[in-house]
Amino acid sequence: MNESAYENYSTGRLNDAFEFCEGYKNFVSTAKTEREVIIQTIKIAEENGFVNIKEYLKNNNRLKPGDKIYDINMNKAMILAVIGDEKLENGLNIVGSHIDSPRLDLKSTPIYEEGNICLLDTHYYGGIKKYQWTALPLALHGVIVKKDGTKINVCYGENENDPVFGISDLLPHLDKEKRTEVVTGEELNLIAGTIPDKNSTKEKVKQNIINLLKEKGIDKEDLFSSEIEAVPAGKARDFGLDKSMIMAYGQDDRVCAYASIMAIINSETPKKTSICLLVDKEEIGSAGATGMKSVFFENFVADIISLTTNYSDLKVRHCLKNSKMISSDVTAGYDPNRPTPFNKETEAYLGRGIAFCKYTGSKGKNDASDANPEYIAQIRQILDNNGIFYQASEMGKVEAGGGGTISKLMAIYDMDVIDAGVPVISMHAPWEITAKVDIYETYLTYKTFYHFMQ
Ligand code: MN
Ligand code: MN
Repeated sequence: MNESAYENYSTGRLNDAFEFCEGYKNFVSTAKTEREVIIQTIKIAEENGFVNIKEYLKNNNRLKPGDKIYDINMNKAMILAVIGDEKLENGLNIVGSHIDSPRLDLKSTPIYEEGNICLLDTHYYGGIKKYQWTALPLALHGVIVKKDGTKINVCYGENENDPVFGISDLLPHLDKEKRTEVVTGEELNLIAGTIPDKNSTKEKVKQNIINLLKEKGIDKEDLFSSEIEAVPAGKARDFGLDKSMIMAYGQDDRVCAYASIMAIINSETPKKTSICLLVDKEEIGSAGATGMKSVFFENFVADIISLTTNYSDLKVRHCLKNSKMISSDVTAGYDPNRPTPFNKETEAYLGRGIAFCKYTGSKGKNDASDANPEYIAQIRQILDNNGIFYQASEMGKVEAGGGGTISKLMAIYDMDVIDAGVPVISMHAPWEITAKVDIYETYLTYKTFYHFMQ
C-alpha cells in the first residue's frame, strides 16, 4: 500500500493504463464545462447501448436486469444506471463525482472599456488562487440563449486559428507592492480587444466588440441569458519525460467522472444495480437544481422503482438506505515543491494507485463524512482479491485545512459512503497534474466495486 504501483506493475498493465489515458486525455480536452461533459457522456453512453429513461417512462416499459439507462438534469447533471439481477430495495452500488471545475464566469453585463481596451468582467467560480489565472491563454466555453429560445453554443479559443483571451498582470519592474498572491476577484477581467469603431462617438473599442458579436448573431443584451466560462485554452498533455503523468485543466473532478463513466460502460450485468452519478456545483457548495443537494437523484431512484415494481415510498427509502457509495473525488497528492502542509506519513502520493480518504472535513473532522470500518473492510477485501493498487490517505496536516465532497450529502440517506479518487498535484490551478497509473487503478476500482460490492 505504501510503495509506487510501478514496483509491481506488469508491462501489460502499464500499456493498458497508458492506453486508457489516451481516451481520458481526449475526453478532458473537449469536455471543459458541465454541459460539455454531458454532451460527451451521452455520446459514449448511447454508443454503448444506454437509453434515455424518458423512453421507458413514456410507454411505461418495464426495466429488467441488464437494461442500461441514463437521465439528464438541465444539461448539467446526469445519472447512468445498469439494472442488476437483485431487486432495487436491496440497494444500489453508486459511484458519484462532480463535473464542475473552478473557472471564471462572465458576468451578466460583462462588456466595458477602459484605457482604449475592451474588457469582459468575470466572477470567479470555486476556490481559486487568483494570481494563477493571469497571464495565460483562456478560451470561452458556454451557451447564449436568445429570447426566442435559440441556443448558440460558444467554444472560442480552442482551435489554433481562434484568438484567445486573457487577464493581464503587472510587470515585475512596477510590482512594488509585491502583490504576488493578492490579485483580487474584481481584477480578473478578460481583455477582449483594442480596435476602435471610428463611427462611434464614445467607448469606441467596446462598440467595435459589440459590432463583432452582432456579426455572430449575438446582441450584448443576450449575454444576460448566457452561461459562459473562461477556461484555460489548449488540450491535455502528457507530463514528464517518462510521460507517466497528465497535465490538464479540470481534472478535479473530471478524472474521476471519466473513470466512473468508463467503469459503468464496461461492466456486465451486476448483482446490484450500478449507478454512475455526475453532478454540478460541488465546487460552490452543491447548491442549486443541478447540485447534489437537489432531489434529482432521489427522483431518479423513485422512477426506476416505479419501472420495476409496485411503487411505494418505503421501497425508495429502503433502496437508498441499503445502497453503498464511493464518493469519487480527487484528493491532494504530496507535492515535494510545497511540502509544508503535508504530513509525509499519511498523504496520498502520485503513482501509488487510487487514494481512499476515510473522512473529509477539516480541523477536528468538522463537517466530515466518516466512513464505517465495517464498510472499509468490505472494500479492502474486494480490492485485494482483485489485485487493485490503492492507498489510504488524509488531505494535509490536521490543522492545515481540509475540504468536503458530496459524500456527506449521500450519507444523509443512511447509506455507507467513502471518498476515493485520483491524487492531484496543483489542484484547482489552471493546469492540474495526475499520474496515469492512479487514473487506471481508479477505473479498475470502480469496475470492481460495481461487480463485487454486496
Ligand atoms: Mn473535487
Ligand atoms: Mn475541487
